[in-house]
Amino acid sequence: MSADFGSELDGQVAIVTGASSGIGSATAESLASRGASVVLAARREDELEELADRIEDTDGEALVIPTDITDDDDIDSLVEATLDEYDRIDILVNNAGVMPLAHIAQADRETLQTTIDVNLSGLITLTHAVVPTMIEQESGHIVNLSSVVGRFLQANSSHYNAAKAGVKMFGDSLRLDVAENGIHVATIEPGAVDTELLDHIPDEEIQEGVKEHVGSMDALAPEDIARTITFVVTQPERVDINEVLIRPLDQVQP
Ligand code: NDP
Repeated sequence: MSADFGSELDGQVAIVTGASSGIGSATAESLASRGASVVLAARREDELEELADRIEDTDGEALVIPTDITDDDDIDSLVEATLDEYDRIDILVNNAGVMPLAHIAQADRETLQTTIDVNLSGLITLTHAVVPTMIEQESGHIVNLSSVVGRFLQANSSHYNAAKAGVKMFGDSLRLDVAENGIHVATIEPGAVDTELLDHIPDEEIQEGVKEHVGSMDALAPEDIARTITFVVTQPERVDINEVLIRPLDQVQP
């Protein structure tokens, strides 16, 4: 018998949320380069179309579905359009996220709500919409983007930390329910990754402080996380990588 060193993704279908930039964009490219048809979901359609062009230029297959992950109708349309086009869903990368850091006393309610809606509620709702298809197929991978701060404390981040810790607990508990259906669940916990995530921190002082902290280290590239996610979903069927904490070598805080 020959050794089993994992699989390619030919014939598989992957939905990647937050595919318009950063980690999601790199992950979609990586999965497509291994043979998956990738469904690109986020709000910015132009960025998704550019990514689809890049993927198709290298003989990959991509479908653009503009999606606001906080909108239940968009979530249903995303799943329906995927099934209409490909008739299956093998991989769901729940990557869409926002990080509007703020001190709780200075944050407005909309900021708090959006943080939970995008990072946690949207992820749970989309998973809920996809799982029946995976159960029917008796296989699947759900990869959820948590964060190093889902495990460790960070100032001015109580709402974001809560959302990311929720992602981790959701994934671990989900696994109990769906492992018997052949569905793999993984939580990815990146440290500092060089993306546009920090640019959207509304409080200038906090944004500057975080950028200084991240700038003091050799931050990860989105491709580093994309490679990790691709590794997670190309293991032999019996392997279920549950959790990956991945930080720049020189990140020791948090
Ligand atoms: P980016 O800001 O580059 O990407 C965030 C993505 O989320 C964008 O594609 C954005 O697309 C999408 N998004 C935001 N709001 C919505 C929404 N309402 N509906 C659909 N999509 C939405 O950041 P990263 O690539 O860094 O972030 C990806 C994930 O990684 C996030 O979950 C983040 O929390 C996590 N992470 C990042 C770390 C880092 O250091 N960068 C560290 C740890 C975790 P659009 O605006 O077009 O909708």
